[in-house]
Amino acid sequence: MSDDHAAHAISAYGSRINHTPNIDRLATEGMRLDNCHCTNSICTPSRATILTGQYGHRNGVYTLADKLDGAMEPQLQKILKHADYETAMIGKWHLGHGDNHDPAGFDYWNVLPGQGLYYDPEMIELGSKKICFGYVTDIITEQCIKWLRQRDRDKPFMLMCHHKAPHRPWEPSKQYANLFEDTKIPEPETLYDDYSNRSNAAAAAAMRVNRDLAPTDVKQDPPEECTGDDLTAWMYQRYIKDYLRCVQSVDDSVGTLLDFLESESILDETIIIYTSDQGFFLGDHGWYDKRFIYEESIRMPFLIRYPDEIPPGTTSDRIVINNDFAPTLLDYAGLEVPEAMQGVSARAVMRGESPSDWRESFYYRYWMHAAHHNVYAHYGIRTHKHKLIYFYSEGLGLDGTGDEPKMPEWELFDLELDPLELRNVYTKPEYQDTVRDLTARLEQLQSSYGDESLH
Ligand code: CA
Repeated sequence: MSDDHAAHAISAYGSRINHTPNIDRLATEGMRLDNCHCTNSICTPSRATILTGQYGHRNGVYTLADKLDGAMEPQLQKILKHADYETAMIGKWHLGHGDNHDPAGFDYWNVLPGQGLYYDPEMIELGSKKICFGYVTDIITEQCIKWLRQRDRDKPFMLMCHHKAPHRPWEPSKQYANLFEDTKIPEPETLYDDYSNRSNAAAAAAMRVNRDLAPTDVKQDPPEECTGDDLTAWMYQRYIKDYLRCVQSVDDSVGTLLDFLESESILDETIIIYTSDQGFFLGDHGWYDKRFIYEESIRMPFLIRYPDEIPPGTTSDRIVINNDFAPTLLDYAGLEVPEAMQGVSARAVMRGESPSDWRESFYYRYWMHAAHHNVYAHYGIRTHKHKLIYFYSEGLGLDGTGDEPKMPEWELFDLELDPLELRNVYTKPEYQDTVRDLTARLEQLQSSYGDESLH
């Protein structure tokens, strides 16, 4: 797993801006999920959901400020460990530290504190801190290989290799520092978005490439004469190149790990997944970052290789959510999925089947009201054809001071006619049946998941 790696920066997903041969190998030799989504597009909550199979209102991890309680059940790795799997977590943890929040249920862990550093990062190995010299993506890869070499070969294992890259502030390795130097990276269609025909929330967000990136992100002052659209274009090139350079090292890591498993003759008997904790705006809508329920932010890349069961070169457009990851892995391990997990096994989907009772929509909720980047708290439902969103501000003022746009407000997008989500059709007469239907389905989902603190 990587951090903030959007599917549209992977060539197997049709990237127009980079090439990722090693990650692509998982698609060629396995399955690519085209409708895999996180249910709260932010690092810590997505990681908690992946381990627990639960929404934030169940596992207690709503925002970046929350920590996962190590004692809570269920957690994927604890169940596997109990079933005699050897378990390891290496790299970015980001679910808290200290007695109750260090990685629990892992035989071995070696993690970055908080966000961690790109160069010469401190790591915490089973509670002891030490500095590791070098580039973080290479270090995490090396630590994973080291652990795989010394693992207990009499046991099955689960290794979570969790990269920090390509998270902000996008510091590439020396190897790729000049990659794309003489290239103009294609701009996304919505880079110059003016946020018209939409909610106030989109315009209020402080994650604009041309305005909100810090000097540490672009690492150079823009030329003085550079203003307006020229400035947007300049900032985009500066930031996206470093982002993609960081991705290149992650792609190398995937190649190194695949080669190692092959050299150990366990490649085909190991289920290998590549994913990221959420998506990312790659200049889409003029933004970087994530948080919103909009497409580029909620889509997780998900590639899985397991030739015994998954036909090579296949894809699925079934809606899979990060709540499903733990149930799916437990199913592969032949273990029971706890009732308390709020996801289901997608093993049949991975086999290329379309189970008749598979979900046709999913529930999303972003809780971190107006904190960082001024994105308003919201919840919503996405189906294959539509997305209904409710933005609100009452009662969750984590940092809700300052000028607030008028809330609450609704958005409805017709994803078939408007895949870039540029026209809110919530009040259009021809969509009123859809609004009624989706509102009812949204309420049903909230009720079925036990999310009761509504607005
Ligand atoms: Ca992230």
